[in-house]
Amino acid sequence: MSHKLPELKYSYDALEPHIDSKTMEIHHSKHHQTYITNLNKALESYSELFEKSLEDLLSNLDQIPESIRVAVRNGGGGHLNHSLFWETIGPNSGDEPKGKILELINGSFGDFESFKSEFSEKAMKQFGSGWGWLCQDSSGKLVTLSTPNQDSPISSGLNPILGLDVWEHAYYLNYQNRRPDYIKAFWEIIDWASVEGKLK
Ligand code: MN
Repeated sequence: MSHKLPELKYSYDALEPHIDSKTMEIHHSKHHQTYITNLNKALESYSELFEKSLEDLLSNLDQIPESIRVAVRNGGGGHLNHSLFWETIGPNSGDEPKGKILELINGSFGDFESFKSEFSEKAMKQFGSGWGWLCQDSSGKLVTLSTPNQDSPISSGLNPILGLDVWEHAYYLNYQNRRPDYIKAFWEIIDWASVEGKLK
C-alpha cells in the first residue's frame, strides 16, 4: 500500500491570522505531498517495504537498503513530521496545557513558561531548515530538541509529541525572515489534547 496524504481536520484558512491560508495550502498539498511522492518512488524498488509502517521504517533506518536509505529518511521523515504537525495544531486552540500533559511539562522543565522558552530557543537556533521538538524519552520524561532537514526524532529512539516546522516554506509568505514572530504565533494554535494523545 502506497503512502497517502492525510486530510486536514480543518480548512486551510482556519489557522489565520497565525498561519495564512495560502501557506497552509501550498505546505499541505505541495510540500507534504512531495515528501510522500518521493517516499513511494523510493519504496517501489523494494515493494515489500510498503508493508512496514512509517514509524517502523524510520526507527530502523540502518535496515533500509542503502540505495534508498537517504530517500526514505527524507521523504518518510517529511511525511511523518508533517502528519504530526497538522494533527497537533488547530483552530480554537490557544489554550495552555492542562492535566496530565501539564504535569509532565512541569515535572520535566519546572513550569510551562520555562518549557516555552526552551522549546522556542531550540526552534530559533536550528540553523537553516529543520524542526523544533517536544519529545518523550525512553524513561517517559519530556525533552526539547531540534533536528535538521526532515530527520525524525523517532530515528533516535524518541517519541515526538509536538513539532514545529521551521523550514522557510512554513512561514515565508506571511513572516518573511521573521522566524521569531512565527514561533510566537505557534503557541496560539497548539491543540494540547492532541499533543497529550501522542504520549506513550
Ligand atoms: Mn514543511
